[in-house]
Amino acid sequence: MKRLFCAVLACLLLSGCGWFEQKADVDFWCMDTFMNVKLWGSGAEKAAGELQTMMNDLHTTWSAANEQSLLGKLNVGMEVALTDEQQAVLDRAQALSRRTGGAFDPKMRAVSRAWGFYNLAYRVPEQADIDAALALEQWDLGAAMKGYAGEKAAAYLEQTGVDRGILSLGGNIQTYGEKPDGTPWQIAIQNPYGEDALGIISVQGTKSVVTSGSYQRCFEANGQFYHHILDPETGYPADSGLVSVTVICDEGMTADALSTALFVMGLEDGVEFWRSSDDFEAVFVTEDGGIYATAGVALSGCSYEVIQ
Ligand code: ADP
Ligand code: MG
Repeated sequence: MKRLFCAVLACLLLSGCGWFEQKADVDFWCMDTFMNVKLWGSGAEKAAGELQTMMNDLHTTWSAANEQSLLGKLNVGMEVALTDEQQAVLDRAQALSRRTGGAFDPKMRAVSRAWGFYNLAYRVPEQADIDAALALEQWDLGAAMKGYAGEKAAAYLEQTGVDRGILSLGGNIQTYGEKPDGTPWQIAIQNPYGEDALGIISVQGTKSVVTSGSYQRCFEANGQFYHHILDPETGYPADSGLVSVTVICDEGMTADALSTALFVMGLEDGVEFWRSSDDFEAVFVTEDGGIYATAGVALSGCSYEVIQ
């Protein structure tokens, strides 16, 4: 009996030390991108499975490329009964569009399609096609949905026994919880000019870190470079002097939409926008290789200018 007691006590102590801590490390393909979920804590495997289902469901609902999705139906003018959550997402998308003066525009689907960014059949459209596509105002939440997915995942994990985790959702990183030793999460930002890391961002607790870069989907035609982040004013790829923008924010959807919007705005207007906001930090990388980080970013591994 005494021996059994000692064995149980040893197990309890070891589990407290993390020896028996449950872990999950799951890779899958969703939202046209590679995703990875790493979780630690009670029920990690089950929670990772639930998150994979959540990502697939979000894709089914929100993919603008799918005619049967919610956005597919809205885009052909069908009457759709929206859930409270769906209405809230659409309202937030429109609020983010207003907040960014239209630089984040959740209705760019037809324009993206005109450039062939949807089916990777790249082409430079005629001006008349761009004008017609801009006028269509079709929903596309591709610039905000992975961020929303990260924030929804973090809210779900709050209700589980999982202590901490890190989700990689195709250029979007969502952290959840604190590491046991109190050290920050270390997140590499991709070097727009290569496969290596440009620098490392440290964040504490639950955060969303999202990068939008012109290198993510692009093509060359007639010696010109074209990429998938479009300026809603012109319908052309944003020519803002930036190659990537990373945003760090508590809300994933906001982080994602702002990374796209700041890319469209460019460094100068993006910095002004940051100065008039209090809910995010950002790292801007310019075409000439300059790196600029707002004052609240903990960035290491590269030299950069701090924006106050
Ligand atoms: P990614 O989804 O590749 O990580 P973004 O979050 O920046 O990159 O989103 C870019 C996608 O969003 C494009 O592929 C297009 O579908 C759509 N999009 C392009 N320009 C804009 C814009 N100005 N505002 C909102 N969505 C946009
Ligand atoms: Mg985005």
